[in-house]
Amino acid sequence: MSDYKFLWDKVIEVIRLSTSKSIFQSFFSVVHPLSFDNNKYIIQVDSPLVADWLKQKYSKKIEALLSDQTGEKIKLVVKVKSEPQKIETLSVSELEKENSRLFPPQKKKVSISSNLNPNFTFNNFIVGGSNQMAHAAAFASGQNPGHVYNPLFIYGGVGLGKTHLMQAIGNANLIHHKDINVHYISCERFINQFIEGIQNNSLTKFRNLYRENTDVLLIDDIQFLSNKEAMQEEFFHTFDSLLNAGKQIVMTCDKSPNELENIEERLVNRFEWGMVVDIQSPNFETRVAIINKKLEHFGKCFDDDVCYYLANKVRNDVRKIEGAIIKLLGFASVQNKPVTLEMAKECLRDYIVSPAVTLESIQKTVADFFNIRINELCSSKRSRNISHPRQIAMFFCRTLTNSSLNEIAQSFGGKDHTTVLYACRKIDNERMENELVNQEIITLNKRIVENS
Ligand code: ADP
Ligand code: MG
Repeated sequence: MSDYKFLWDKVIEVIRLSTSKSIFQSFFSVVHPLSFDNNKYIIQVDSPLVADWLKQKYSKKIEALLSDQTGEKIKLVVKVKSEPQKIETLSVSELEKENSRLFPPQKKKVSISSNLNPNFTFNNFIVGGSNQMAHAAAFASGQNPGHVYNPLFIYGGVGLGKTHLMQAIGNANLIHHKDINVHYISCERFINQFIEGIQNNSLTKFRNLYRENTDVLLIDDIQFLSNKEAMQEEFFHTFDSLLNAGKQIVMTCDKSPNELENIEERLVNRFEWGMVVDIQSPNFETRVAIINKKLEHFGKCFDDDVCYYLANKVRNDVRKIEGAIIKLLGFASVQNKPVTLEMAKECLRDYIVSPAVTLESIQKTVADFFNIRINELCSSKRSRNISHPRQIAMFFCRTLTNSSLNEIAQSFGGKDHTTVLYACRKIDNERMENELVNQEIITLNKRIVENS
Protein backbone atom coordinates (compact mmCIF):
# COMPACT_ATOMS: atom_id res chain seq x y z
CA MET A 1 0.00 0.00 0.00
CA SER A 2 1.36 3.42 -0.91
CA ASP A 3 2.40 5.74 1.89
CA TYR A 4 -0.30 8.30 1.40
CA LYS A 5 -2.99 5.63 1.68
CA PHE A 6 -1.38 4.21 4.79
CA LEU A 7 -1.33 7.73 6.24
CA TRP A 8 -5.03 8.16 5.46
CA ASP A 9 -5.86 4.87 7.16
CA LYS A 10 -4.19 6.14 10.32
CA VAL A 11 -6.19 9.37 10.24
CA ILE A 12 -9.44 7.60 9.57
CA GLU A 13 -8.88 5.21 12.47
CA VAL A 14 -8.80 8.14 14.87
CA ILE A 15 -11.83 9.75 13.29
CA ARG A 16 -13.80 6.54 13.44
CA LEU A 17 -13.34 6.48 17.20
CA SER A 18 -14.42 10.04 17.72
CA THR A 19 -17.50 10.34 15.47
CA SER A 20 -20.88 8.66 15.40
CA LYS A 21 -21.36 5.64 13.18
CA SER A 22 -23.86 7.39 10.91
CA ILE A 23 -21.65 10.43 10.35
CA PHE A 24 -18.71 8.17 9.67
CA GLN A 25 -20.70 6.09 7.21
CA SER A 26 -22.15 9.08 5.40
CA PHE A 27 -19.08 11.25 5.15
CA PHE A 28 -15.87 9.36 5.70
CA SER A 29 -16.53 6.02 4.07
CA VAL A 30 -16.94 7.86 0.74
CA VAL A 31 -13.58 9.62 0.84
CA HIS A 32 -10.80 8.51 -1.52
CA PRO A 33 -7.27 9.61 -0.72
CA LEU A 34 -5.76 10.88 -4.00
CA SER A 35 -2.23 12.08 -3.40
CA PHE A 36 0.24 13.56 -0.97
CA ASP A 37 2.80 15.96 -2.34
CA ASN A 38 4.53 19.13 -1.20
CA ASN A 39 2.77 19.02 2.17
CA LYS A 40 -0.57 18.99 0.36
CA TYR A 41 -2.86 16.04 1.01
CA ILE A 42 -5.60 15.67 -1.59
CA ILE A 43 -8.76 13.67 -0.99
CA GLN A 44 -11.69 13.19 -3.31
CA VAL A 45 -15.42 12.74 -2.76
CA ASP A 46 -18.34 12.39 -5.14
CA SER A 47 -20.58 15.13 -3.93
CA PRO A 48 -20.14 18.87 -3.32
CA LEU A 49 -22.28 18.52 -0.20
CA VAL A 50 -19.90 16.03 1.37
CA ALA A 51 -16.94 18.18 0.31
CA ASP A 52 -18.47 21.30 1.85
CA TRP A 53 -19.28 19.50 5.01
CA LEU A 54 -15.82 17.98 5.35
CA LYS A 55 -14.19 21.34 4.71
CA GLN A 56 -16.39 23.12 7.21
CA LYS A 57 -16.34 20.60 9.99
CA TYR A 58 -13.26 18.45 9.67
CA SER A 59 -10.50 20.03 7.64
CA LYS A 60 -8.74 21.46 10.74
CA LYS A 61 -8.97 18.15 12.57
CA ILE A 62 -7.76 16.14 9.58
CA GLU A 63 -4.90 18.55 8.99
CA ALA A 64 -3.90 18.25 12.65
CA LEU A 65 -3.98 14.46 12.48
CA LEU A 66 -1.95 14.44 9.27
CA SER A 67 0.56 16.78 10.84
CA ASP A 68 0.77 14.56 13.93
CA GLN A 69 1.57 11.58 11.73
CA THR A 70 4.16 13.30 9.56
CA GLY A 71 5.60 15.89 11.92
CA GLU A 72 5.03 18.57 9.29
CA LYS A 73 2.37 21.18 8.63
CA ILE A 74 -0.06 19.70 6.11
CA LYS A 75 -2.73 21.39 4.00
CA LEU A 76 -5.84 19.38 3.15
CA VAL A 77 -7.47 19.76 -0.26
CA VAL A 78 -10.93 18.30 -0.84
CA LYS A 79 -11.84 17.64 -4.47
CA VAL A 80 -15.18 16.73 -5.94
CA LYS A 81 -15.16 14.02 -8.57
CA SER A 82 -18.14 14.84 -10.73
CA GLU A 83 -19.05 18.00 -12.64
CA PRO A 84 -21.05 19.84 -9.93
CA GLN A 85 -17.64 20.98 -8.73
CA LYS A 86 -17.80 23.78 -11.24
CA ILE A 87 -20.71 25.35 -9.36
CA GLU A 88 -18.49 25.83 -6.39
CA THR A 89 -15.75 27.57 -8.26
CA LEU A 90 -17.85 29.87 -10.40
CA SER A 91 -17.05 33.56 -10.40
CA VAL A 92 -19.85 36.02 -9.66
CA SER A 93 -20.61 36.70 -13.31
CA GLU A 94 -20.46 33.00 -14.15
CA LEU A 95 -22.78 32.33 -11.24
CA GLU A 96 -25.25 34.89 -12.58
CA LYS A 97 -25.06 33.27 -16.00
CA GLU A 98 -25.61 29.87 -14.45
CA ASN A 99 -28.58 31.20 -12.53
CA SER A 100 -30.21 32.70 -15.56
CA ARG A 101 -29.66 29.46 -17.47
CA LEU A 102 -31.34 27.52 -14.70
CA PHE A 103 -34.00 30.07 -13.97
CA PRO A 104 -34.51 32.14 -17.11
CA PRO A 105 -36.26 35.37 -16.12
CA GLN A 106 -38.79 35.12 -18.94
CA LYS A 107 -40.02 31.88 -17.42
CA LYS A 108 -41.28 33.73 -14.41
CA LYS A 109 -44.72 34.21 -15.88
CA VAL A 110 -46.49 34.93 -12.66
CA SER A 111 -45.01 36.15 -9.44
CA ILE A 112 -46.31 33.93 -6.67
CA SER A 113 -46.31 34.42 -2.97
CA SER A 114 -43.68 32.27 -1.31
CA ASN A 115 -45.64 31.83 1.98
CA LEU A 116 -42.32 31.84 3.80
CA ASN A 117 -41.78 32.93 7.37
CA PRO A 118 -38.65 35.14 7.23
CA ASN A 119 -37.71 34.11 10.78
CA PHE A 120 -36.80 30.60 9.71
CA THR A 121 -33.24 30.97 8.52
CA PHE A 122 -30.03 28.93 8.61
CA ASN A 123 -28.57 31.64 10.75
CA ASN A 124 -30.77 30.91 13.72
CA PHE A 125 -30.82 27.14 13.30
CA ILE A 126 -28.56 25.33 15.76
CA VAL A 127 -26.65 22.44 14.25
CA GLY A 128 -25.79 19.39 16.32
CA GLY A 129 -25.27 15.68 15.80
CA SER A 130 -29.02 15.12 15.61
CA ASN A 131 -29.56 17.34 12.57
CA GLN A 132 -26.13 17.73 10.99
CA MET A 133 -26.87 15.86 7.80
CA ALA A 134 -30.29 17.37 7.35
CA HIS A 135 -28.77 20.81 7.83
CA ALA A 136 -25.93 20.14 5.38
CA ALA A 137 -28.30 18.89 2.69
CA ALA A 138 -30.74 21.76 3.28
CA PHE A 139 -27.92 24.28 3.21
CA ALA A 140 -26.72 22.97 -0.14
CA SER A 141 -30.25 23.21 -1.56
CA GLY A 142 -30.50 26.73 -0.16
CA GLN A 143 -27.44 27.73 -2.19
CA ASN A 144 -28.10 25.84 -5.39
CA PRO A 145 -31.70 24.69 -5.71
CA GLY A 146 -32.31 21.88 -8.15
CA HIS A 147 -28.65 20.95 -8.21
CA VAL A 148 -27.32 18.89 -5.44
CA TYR A 149 -30.04 16.91 -3.77
CA ASN A 150 -33.27 16.72 -5.60
CA PRO A 151 -35.74 15.80 -4.30
CA LEU A 152 -34.74 16.40 -0.71
CA PHE A 153 -36.77 14.44 1.83
CA ILE A 154 -36.42 15.51 5.48
CA TYR A 155 -38.11 13.38 8.12
CA GLY A 156 -38.32 13.24 11.91
CA GLY A 157 -40.53 13.74 14.96
CA VAL A 158 -42.67 16.70 15.90
CA GLY A 159 -40.99 20.00 16.80
CA LEU A 160 -37.50 18.99 15.70
CA GLY A 161 -37.01 21.68 13.09
CA LYS A 162 -38.23 20.19 9.80
CA THR A 163 -40.39 23.16 8.87
CA HIS A 164 -37.67 25.54 10.03
CA LEU A 165 -35.04 23.92 7.79
CA MET A 166 -37.38 23.69 4.84
CA GLN A 167 -38.31 27.36 5.06
CA ALA A 168 -34.65 28.28 5.56
CA ILE A 169 -33.99 26.69 2.16
CA GLY A 170 -36.66 28.90 0.61
CA ASN A 171 -35.43 32.03 2.33
CA ALA A 172 -31.86 31.32 1.22
CA ASN A 173 -33.06 30.65 -2.35
CA LEU A 174 -34.73 34.04 -2.47
CA ILE A 175 -31.55 35.75 -1.33
CA HIS A 176 -29.28 33.96 -3.79
CA HIS A 177 -31.62 33.84 -6.78
CA LYS A 178 -33.76 36.94 -7.04
CA ASP A 179 -35.80 35.82 -10.01
CA ILE A 180 -37.09 32.49 -8.87
CA ASN A 181 -40.47 31.50 -7.56
CA VAL A 182 -40.26 29.67 -4.27
CA HIS A 183 -43.47 28.17 -3.01
CA TYR A 184 -43.95 26.80 0.49
CA ILE A 185 -47.16 24.94 1.25
CA SER A 186 -48.37 22.48 3.84
CA CYS A 187 -49.51 19.22 2.34
CA GLU A 188 -52.95 19.68 3.90
CA ARG A 189 -53.36 23.05 2.21
CA PHE A 190 -52.08 21.58 -1.06
CA ILE A 191 -54.77 18.89 -0.86
CA ASN A 192 -57.47 21.47 -0.11
CA GLN A 193 -56.40 23.58 -3.08
CA PHE A 194 -56.60 20.51 -5.28
CA ILE A 195 -60.12 19.74 -4.04
CA GLU A 196 -61.15 23.37 -4.58
CA GLY A 197 -59.67 23.10 -8.07
CA ILE A 198 -61.92 20.13 -8.84
CA GLN A 199 -64.98 21.77 -7.31
CA ASN A 200 -64.51 25.10 -9.09
CA ASN A 201 -63.35 23.67 -12.37
CA SER A 202 -60.04 25.44 -11.90
CA LEU A 203 -57.60 22.55 -11.98
CA THR A 204 -55.69 24.20 -14.81
CA LYS A 205 -54.93 27.15 -12.59
CA PHE A 206 -53.78 24.80 -9.83
CA ARG A 207 -51.57 22.89 -12.26
CA ASN A 208 -50.10 26.04 -13.75
CA LEU A 209 -49.20 27.29 -10.32
CA TYR A 210 -47.36 24.15 -9.32
CA ARG A 211 -46.06 22.81 -12.60
CA GLU A 212 -45.26 25.95 -14.58
CA ASN A 213 -44.74 28.80 -12.14
CA THR A 214 -42.85 27.18 -9.30
CA ASP A 215 -39.07 26.82 -9.32
CA VAL A 216 -38.73 25.53 -5.78
CA LEU A 217 -41.59 23.58 -4.24
CA LEU A 218 -41.43 23.14 -0.48
CA ILE A 219 -44.15 20.78 0.64
CA ASP A 220 -44.53 20.24 4.36
CA ASP A 221 -45.85 17.11 6.13
CA ILE A 222 -46.19 14.94 3.08
CA GLN A 223 -47.56 12.08 5.23
CA PHE A 224 -50.98 13.65 4.71
CA LEU A 225 -50.99 12.19 1.19
CA SER A 226 -51.71 8.79 2.75
CA ASN A 227 -54.99 7.27 1.58
CA LYS A 228 -55.66 10.11 -0.90
CA GLU A 229 -55.32 8.32 -4.23
CA ALA A 230 -56.44 11.12 -6.55
CA MET A 231 -54.15 13.55 -4.80
CA GLN A 232 -51.25 11.13 -5.07
CA GLU A 233 -51.84 10.83 -8.80
CA GLU A 234 -51.86 14.61 -9.12
CA PHE A 235 -48.75 15.01 -7.00
CA PHE A 236 -46.98 12.31 -9.00
CA HIS A 237 -47.38 14.35 -12.19
CA THR A 238 -46.50 17.63 -10.49
CA PHE A 239 -43.43 15.97 -9.07
CA ASP A 240 -42.31 14.59 -12.44
CA SER A 241 -42.88 17.77 -14.31
CA LEU A 242 -40.92 19.83 -11.78
CA LEU A 243 -38.06 17.35 -11.62
CA ASN A 244 -37.87 17.04 -15.38
CA ALA A 245 -37.56 20.80 -15.58
CA GLY A 246 -34.70 20.75 -13.06
CA LYS A 247 -36.75 22.45 -10.36
CA GLN A 248 -36.09 21.78 -6.69
CA ILE A 249 -38.54 19.77 -4.58
CA VAL A 250 -38.19 19.57 -0.80
CA MET A 251 -40.54 17.49 1.33
CA THR A 252 -40.86 16.96 5.05
CA CYS A 253 -42.52 14.01 6.69
CA ASP A 254 -43.02 12.51 10.14
CA LYS A 255 -41.58 9.18 8.97
CA SER A 256 -39.10 7.80 6.46
CA PRO A 257 -40.34 6.97 2.93
CA ASN A 258 -40.29 3.26 3.58
CA GLU A 259 -42.42 3.63 6.70
CA LEU A 260 -45.13 5.53 4.80
CA GLU A 261 -48.33 3.59 4.48
CA ASN A 262 -51.07 3.87 1.87
CA ILE A 263 -48.98 5.85 -0.55
CA GLU A 264 -48.39 4.49 -4.06
CA GLU A 265 -45.11 2.72 -4.46
CA ARG A 266 -44.05 4.72 -7.52
CA LEU A 267 -44.40 7.88 -5.47
CA VAL A 268 -42.47 6.48 -2.50
CA ASN A 269 -39.75 5.42 -4.96
CA ARG A 270 -39.49 8.95 -6.21
CA PHE A 271 -39.22 10.33 -2.69
CA GLU A 272 -36.08 8.24 -2.36
CA TRP A 273 -34.52 9.36 -5.64
CA GLY A 274 -32.53 12.24 -4.25
CA MET A 275 -31.47 12.63 -0.68
CA VAL A 276 -33.31 11.30 2.38
CA VAL A 277 -32.16 12.76 5.69
CA ASP A 278 -33.55 12.47 9.19
CA ILE A 279 -33.62 14.74 12.23
CA GLN A 280 -33.36 13.15 15.65
CA SER A 281 -34.07 14.65 19.06
CA PRO A 282 -31.30 17.07 20.00
CA ASN A 283 -28.81 15.96 22.64
CA PHE A 284 -28.19 17.91 25.83
CA GLU A 285 -25.50 20.21 24.41
CA THR A 286 -27.59 21.05 21.36
CA ARG A 287 -30.59 21.77 23.58
CA VAL A 288 -28.50 24.17 25.65
CA ALA A 289 -27.28 25.88 22.47
CA ILE A 290 -30.86 26.15 21.19
CA ILE A 291 -31.99 27.69 24.49
CA ASN A 292 -29.20 30.26 24.33
CA LYS A 293 -30.01 31.09 20.71
CA LYS A 294 -33.68 31.61 21.54
CA LEU A 295 -32.74 33.80 24.53
CA GLU A 296 -30.44 35.83 22.32
CA HIS A 297 -33.48 36.52 20.14
CA PHE A 298 -35.28 37.98 23.18
CA GLY A 299 -32.15 39.86 24.27
CA LYS A 300 -32.03 37.82 27.51
CA CYS A 301 -29.84 35.22 29.12
CA PHE A 302 -30.30 32.61 31.87
CA ASP A 303 -27.82 31.36 34.44
CA ASP A 304 -26.35 28.01 33.51
CA ASP A 305 -28.29 26.15 36.19
CA VAL A 306 -31.60 27.39 34.76
CA CYS A 307 -30.46 26.55 31.25
CA TYR A 308 -29.39 23.04 32.24
CA TYR A 309 -32.60 22.52 34.17
CA LEU A 310 -34.63 23.41 31.10
CA ALA A 311 -32.44 21.33 28.79
CA ASN A 312 -32.81 18.33 31.07
CA LYS A 313 -36.51 18.58 31.54
CA VAL A 314 -37.75 19.30 28.02
CA ARG A 315 -36.04 16.89 25.70
CA ASN A 316 -37.85 15.76 22.63
CA ASP A 317 -39.47 18.81 21.17
CA VAL A 318 -37.80 22.13 20.45
CA ARG A 319 -41.21 23.80 20.18
CA LYS A 320 -41.80 22.88 23.81
CA ILE A 321 -38.40 24.25 24.78
CA GLU A 322 -39.44 27.55 23.19
CA GLY A 323 -42.75 27.43 25.02
CA ALA A 324 -40.98 26.91 28.34
CA ILE A 325 -38.65 29.87 27.72
CA ILE A 326 -41.54 32.17 26.84
CA LYS A 327 -43.52 31.05 29.85
CA LEU A 328 -40.58 31.59 32.16
CA LEU A 329 -39.75 35.03 30.75
CA GLY A 330 -43.39 36.05 31.12
CA PHE A 331 -43.49 34.76 34.69
CA ALA A 332 -40.31 36.67 35.62
CA SER A 333 -41.58 39.86 34.02
CA VAL A 334 -44.91 39.72 35.89
CA GLN A 335 -43.06 39.15 39.15
CA ASN A 336 -40.47 41.73 38.21
CA LYS A 337 -37.68 39.44 39.42
CA PRO A 338 -34.68 37.85 37.72
CA VAL A 339 -35.06 34.25 36.59
CA THR A 340 -33.69 31.75 39.11
CA LEU A 341 -33.68 27.98 39.26
CA GLU A 342 -36.35 28.01 41.98
CA MET A 343 -38.51 30.26 39.86
CA ALA A 344 -38.02 27.98 36.83
CA LYS A 345 -39.08 24.97 38.88
CA GLU A 346 -42.14 26.71 40.23
CA CYS A 347 -43.20 28.22 36.94
CA LEU A 348 -42.69 25.09 34.86
CA ARG A 349 -43.93 22.54 37.38
CA ASP A 350 -47.08 21.78 35.39
CA TYR A 351 -45.61 22.59 32.02
CA ILE A 352 -42.94 19.98 31.98
CA VAL A 353 -44.13 16.79 30.51
CA SER A 354 -42.45 13.47 30.89
CA PRO A 355 -41.39 12.39 27.42
CA ALA A 356 -42.86 8.95 28.08
CA VAL A 357 -46.48 10.15 28.22
CA THR A 358 -48.22 8.27 25.42
CA LEU A 359 -51.79 8.01 24.19
CA GLU A 360 -51.93 4.49 25.63
CA SER A 361 -50.61 5.51 29.06
CA ILE A 362 -53.20 8.29 29.24
CA GLN A 363 -56.03 5.97 28.24
CA LYS A 364 -54.97 3.42 30.84
CA THR A 365 -54.65 5.93 33.70
CA VAL A 366 -57.98 7.59 32.88
CA ALA A 367 -59.82 4.26 32.49
CA ASP A 368 -58.42 3.03 35.86
CA PHE A 369 -59.36 6.29 37.56
CA PHE A 370 -62.98 6.08 36.41
CA ASN A 371 -63.06 2.33 36.88
CA ILE A 372 -64.00 1.48 33.31
CA ARG A 373 -62.29 -0.70 30.71
CA ILE A 374 -60.06 0.74 27.95
CA ASN A 375 -62.27 -0.76 25.24
CA GLU A 376 -65.26 1.03 26.76
CA LEU A 377 -63.25 4.26 26.77
CA CYS A 378 -62.56 3.76 23.06
CA SER A 379 -66.09 2.62 22.19
CA SER A 380 -68.86 4.84 20.83
CA LYS A 381 -71.07 4.53 23.95
CA ARG A 382 -72.67 7.86 24.76
CA SER A 383 -73.70 7.42 28.40
CA ARG A 384 -72.03 10.04 30.60
CA ASN A 385 -70.17 7.49 32.75
CA ILE A 386 -68.24 6.52 29.57
CA SER A 387 -68.33 9.68 27.45
CA HIS A 388 -67.04 11.93 30.24
CA PRO A 389 -63.88 9.86 30.89
CA ARG A 390 -63.38 9.58 27.12
CA GLN A 391 -63.53 13.35 26.73
CA ILE A 392 -61.12 13.82 29.62
CA ALA A 393 -58.73 11.29 28.13
CA MET A 394 -58.89 13.05 24.74
CA PHE A 395 -58.25 16.36 26.49
CA PHE A 396 -55.07 14.95 28.08
CA CYS A 397 -53.93 13.35 24.84
CA ARG A 398 -54.16 16.78 23.26
CA THR A 399 -52.45 18.67 26.05
CA LEU A 400 -49.79 16.19 27.17
CA THR A 401 -48.60 14.61 23.94
CA ASN A 402 -47.47 15.82 20.55
CA SER A 403 -49.93 13.63 18.69
CA SER A 404 -52.10 15.22 16.03
CA LEU A 405 -55.88 15.42 16.33
CA ASN A 406 -56.14 12.65 13.75
CA GLU A 407 -53.77 10.36 15.61
CA ILE A 408 -55.68 10.92 18.83
CA ALA A 409 -59.01 10.32 17.13
CA GLN A 410 -57.68 7.09 15.60
CA SER A 411 -56.45 5.81 18.94
CA PHE A 412 -59.99 6.08 20.33
CA GLY A 413 -61.37 3.43 18.00
CA GLY A 414 -61.07 5.37 14.73
CA LYS A 415 -63.10 8.47 15.53
CA ASP A 416 -63.11 11.75 13.65
CA HIS A 417 -60.70 14.53 14.61
CA THR A 418 -63.65 16.90 15.19
CA THR A 419 -64.75 14.63 18.07
CA VAL A 420 -61.40 15.30 19.77
CA LEU A 421 -61.70 19.05 19.20
CA TYR A 422 -65.22 19.02 20.62
CA ALA A 423 -64.09 17.00 23.67
CA CYS A 424 -61.21 19.41 24.40
CA ARG A 425 -63.49 22.45 24.26
CA LYS A 426 -66.12 20.77 26.41
CA ILE A 427 -63.64 19.80 29.14
CA ASP A 428 -62.05 23.25 29.02
CA ASN A 429 -65.48 24.77 29.70
CA GLU A 430 -66.52 22.20 32.27
CA ARG A 431 -63.43 22.61 34.40
CA MET A 432 -64.11 26.33 34.67
CA GLU A 433 -67.74 25.82 35.66
CA ASN A 434 -67.50 22.65 37.70
CA GLU A 435 -64.98 22.35 40.54
CA LEU A 436 -65.39 18.56 40.65
CA VAL A 437 -64.24 18.25 37.06
CA ASN A 438 -61.39 20.64 37.79
CA GLN A 439 -60.25 18.43 40.69
CA GLU A 440 -60.46 15.33 38.47
CA ILE A 441 -58.20 17.06 35.96
CA ILE A 442 -55.65 18.07 38.58
CA THR A 443 -55.50 14.58 40.13
CA LEU A 444 -55.35 12.85 36.78
CA ASN A 445 -52.67 15.18 35.46
CA LYS A 446 -50.44 14.18 38.35
CA ARG A 447 -51.18 10.47 37.96
CA ILE A 448 -50.56 10.44 34.22
CA VAL A 449 -47.17 12.07 34.60
CA GLU A 450 -46.27 9.80 37.54
CA ASN A 451 -47.39 6.63 35.71
CA SER A 452 -45.46 7.39 32.56
P1 ADP B 1 -41.27 20.43 12.92
O1 ADP B 1 -41.67 21.00 11.60
O2 ADP B 1 -40.21 19.38 12.84
O3 ADP B 1 -42.44 19.95 13.73
P2 ADP B 1 -40.46 23.14 13.47
O4 ADP B 1 -39.54 23.35 12.32
O5 ADP B 1 -41.79 23.78 13.38
O6 ADP B 1 -40.62 21.60 13.80
O7 ADP B 1 -39.70 23.61 14.80
C1 ADP B 1 -40.39 23.93 15.98
C2 ADP B 1 -39.74 25.13 16.62
O8 ADP B 1 -38.47 24.77 17.11
C3 ADP B 1 -39.53 26.26 15.64
O9 ADP B 1 -39.81 27.49 16.26
C4 ADP B 1 -38.06 26.18 15.28
O10 ADP B 1 -37.52 27.47 15.03
C5 ADP B 1 -37.46 25.59 16.53
N1 ADP B 1 -36.30 24.75 16.26
C6 ADP B 1 -36.30 23.42 15.98
N2 ADP B 1 -35.05 22.97 15.81
C7 ADP B 1 -34.23 24.03 15.99
C8 ADP B 1 -32.82 24.20 15.94
N3 ADP B 1 -31.98 23.18 15.68
N4 ADP B 1 -32.32 25.44 16.16
C9 ADP B 1 -33.14 26.47 16.44
N5 ADP B 1 -34.48 26.37 16.50
C10 ADP B 1 -35.03 25.17 16.27
MG1 MG C 1 -43.51 21.17 10.75
